Amino acid sequence: ELLKGQAPKKLAWRPSRVHVIGAGTMGADIAGWCVARGMEVTLQDVSPEQITKGIAAQGKLFARKFKTKAQRDAAKARLIADPNGEGIARADVVIEAIVENLAIKQKVLSEIEAKMKPGAVLATNTSSLLIEDIAAGLPDPGRLIGLHFFNPVALMPLVEVVRGSQTREEDVKRGAAFVTAIDKFPLITKSVPGFLVNRVLTPYMFGAMVRLEHGEDKERIDEAARAFGMPMGPIELADTVGLDVCAHVAHILKFSSEGSKLDRLVAEGKLGKKSGEGFYVWE
Ligand code: NAD
Repeated sequence: ELLKGQAPKKLAWRPSRVHVIGAGTMGADIAGWCVARGMEVTLQDVSPEQITKGIAAQGKLFARKFKTKAQRDAAKARLIADPNGEGIARADVVIEAIVENLAIKQKVLSEIEAKMKPGAVLATNTSSLLIEDIAAGLPDPGRLIGLHFFNPVALMPLVEVVRGSQTREEDVKRGAAFVTAIDKFPLITKSVPGFLVNRVLTPYMFGAMVRLEHGEDKERIDEAARAFGMPMGPIELADTVGLDVCAHVAHILKFSSEGSKLDRLVAEGKLGKKSGEGFYVWE
């Protein structure tokens, strides 16, 4: 049952239109994924260049997912640049993936909520803010859910569906149904710092980093984890996630990283695979 995710069995609601605000790393890829799964998506950002860049970046995904040019062209036509948010009023699901700042998210989401049609789902992709805190700025705080996608979106099946203390059950169900409709795995979680995945993974990665500080070799730690059955070891995982992201999540979960190798690497701009070097040097 768990492996099927947590989508409700019978729900007459069939989402087909999505609006994504924030066309950065996450927003653009969430938009592309939804389009590849058949949705029509409007993509908004304060920066028109980000929208253009974000849309162009989806070409690779469409090339992988669709064999014919006609299919790829149809997908491109379903991904619509929307600098003024005209798609909000007709969207079944609105996903916010803008900068991780509480005051800005509150302001942007309350403006969006006022334009949405009744019954549409309003979601934030926040990784570190609590749903209750963001919802506090909304006229209808019961409407907001978290839809926490993981990076890279195209490779990560899991999406945490985060239930705030005031979130209505119907909205949680619709959120989970939407995640299933885009062929991802919905996991309903509580709105606590780190939600579920980061809460479990951070102590694991952090524990490995503490062993490093005590002189253990990173290669040995990663080899042990792989031999145990993990697809990659915790130090390689940290380099994959991005050391800036790890340090941020560690801070939220109140792990002290002050003076650690993690903090030193972040300060030097060595952020892992994405910058070419972290704990390891990457080609
Ligand atoms: P990013 O910096 O790559 O993109 C953010 C985008 O939001 C930018 O294009 C920016 O122009 C735009 N923006 C900022 N303010 C705006 C506004 N008022 N209106 C419209 N657009 C605005 O950030 P990201 O890494 O994609 O993260 C976005 C969200 O997703 C954050 O809440 C973050 O916590 C969350 N998240 C990130 C990751 C990750 O690995 N990067 C993973 C899961 C969740």
